[in-house]
Amino acid sequence: NTVPDISLNDGNTIPQLGFGVYQIEPKDTAEAVGRALEIGYRHIDTAEMYGNEAEVGEAVRASGLDRGEVFVTSKLNNGFHRPQDARRAFESTLSALKMDYVDLFLIHWPLPTRYDGDFVSTWKTLEEFQRDGRARSIGVSNFQVPHLERLAAEADVVPAVNQIEVHPYLTNEQVRAYGGEHNILTEAWSPIAQGLVLDDPTIVDVAEQVGRTPAQVVLRWHVQRGDIVFPKSTTPKRVEENFQLFDFTLDDTTMERISGLDRGEAGRTGPNPDEFD
Ligand code: NAD
Repeated sequence: NTVPDISLNDGNTIPQLGFGVYQIEPKDTAEAVGRALEIGYRHIDTAEMYGNEAEVGEAVRASGLDRGEVFVTSKLNNGFHRPQDARRAFESTLSALKMDYVDLFLIHWPLPTRYDGDFVSTWKTLEEFQRDGRARSIGVSNFQVPHLERLAAEADVVPAVNQIEVHPYLTNEQVRAYGGEHNILTEAWSPIAQGLVLDDPTIVDVAEQVGRTPAQVVLRWHVQRGDIVFPKSTTPKRVEENFQLFDFTLDDTTMERISGLDRGEAGRTGPNPDEFD
């Protein structure tokens, strides 16, 4: 049950399975991350917006693991897209984490109208962080195809990843396909739709067939599609359960059955990136 490392377009690698800390209270974060690291997770997904970067850093240090053994992602908060603001925000991310680099740093949302929708100058600022080594890899989050096309036309570095909402109710195929064609890995956020898909009769049926839990079935579906996932839970049993994904497979028919649950835009649980500002 080993987590595969996937190659990014810049030559770095990322563990395909990680642990997400959105909506974990700062007071609970160090314990939750510490537990995940004990179970074997080696990839933590946080963000300035989540307010728990300091506790993530604390848990990594307390784990006794070398810094190089844990892949840490953080994200630029909305409202800091101007280059000067982005530089300051990135410095405060590193100082909260008490780390001298992050493995991956993302623009959290494209923000189509705020700061004139100029995420290109923001992206060029992230390119600086990569050049000076403080962000080993850089990427984006919640970018739609036109946003990615604009970066391709106006910037030099291709994002290593695009972190978007993906789960069986929103398979997000067009954005994933663009990524596949342009060497941008898809990271699937809310991979189990915050729990919403776990009672779906098809998922429950597959779970019974393969003798796994609904969460494991859905996470395994993501893994077989090649996406990166970092489910969130503070329940120890679930954190362990979500880690056991690499000792079973879903056949093609089952994969298609799950993909067939797609509800398109109606399946979105979070904001539409074209509107969220
Ligand atoms: P998720 O799909 O991981 O669901 C988490 C919830 O599902 C938990 O709170 C729990 O209630 C339930 N759950 C987890 N494991 C379970 C299990 N085994 N059995 C039953 N229920 C279980 O949702 P999420 O936290 O929104 O997404 C995961 C991560 O994605 C976040 O922590 C964050 O790192 C990232 N994320 C990023 C963005 C973005 O805009 N970039 C947005 C949302 C989330």
